[in-house]
Amino acid sequence: MIDTHCHLFYDEIFNDLDSKLEFAYSMGVTNFLTVGTDNKHMYQNIEIANKYNNIVCSIGIHPTEYNCGYNIEEMRKLPEQYNKIVAIGEVGLDYHYIDLAPKDKQLVLFEEMLQLSKDTNLPLILHCRECFSDNLFKLIKQYNENAVFHCFTDSLENAKKIINNGFYLSLTGIVTFKNSQELREVAKYVPDDRLLIETDSPYLAPVPQRGKPNEPGFVRYVAECICEQRKCTLQYLSDITNDNFYRLFPRARIMLDRN
Ligand SMILES: [Zn+2]
Repeated sequence: MIDTHCHLFYDEIFNDLDSKLEFAYSMGVTNFLTVGTDNKHMYQNIEIANKYNNIVCSIGIHPTEYNCGYNIEEMRKLPEQYNKIVAIGEVGLDYHYIDLAPKDKQLVLFEEMLQLSKDTNLPLILHCRECFSDNLFKLIKQYNENAVFHCFTDSLENAKKIINNGFYLSLTGIVTFKNSQELREVAKYVPDDRLLIETDSPYLAPVPQRGKPNEPGFVRYVAECICEQRKCTLQYLSDITNDNFYRLFPRARIMLDRN
């Protein structure tokens, strides 16, 4: 199993990284994509990926971090220097937090990140909240057809639009929460070849660990919940989500060669 979206550079995980990874192995979780959010953590994130055979990373500026002082020219050169960088993300629009980051600033940043994904020919990891519209899909497709909507928590209707537009959809521990009935419908609906699983740790720990700091090993609980919905085995879910991961992020195949 792969945790396709975690943030290993945050103190909650980083300060104890080796034992968190050991725990993950004991849960059957063997590979990880640690996702960038801002300028400050960018190089630390790359360093983590460089240190471990089974970790790859992404670079990107989260919509609420538009003011973090990134240098787009510098970012453009990084994927050539570091083959552990497999994606641009997480980037997107978060209209839940417009008081933190006004819509116009978010949009400028997003288009810059979309252009970065086009220039580097890397797939996108999208953070999109309360911003779904046909225009959003049109905008993304102008730059890049290869993208995953990470931590999907929206309606079944919008899940269908994501799939019909040819994108991937990723579910976190939120799918295990008591009130997430519609999200479990989404878990049932997404076709085998479009689904990814993730923790988004250290946030959003799934049931039965809800309320605790999240960690990559807990993606197993996300997977088990989805298996119940889809009436499939853990092995089957793990196989299809692994396939999807390596298809969406071709540069991550480096992990296959080494494991
Ligand atoms: Zn995230």
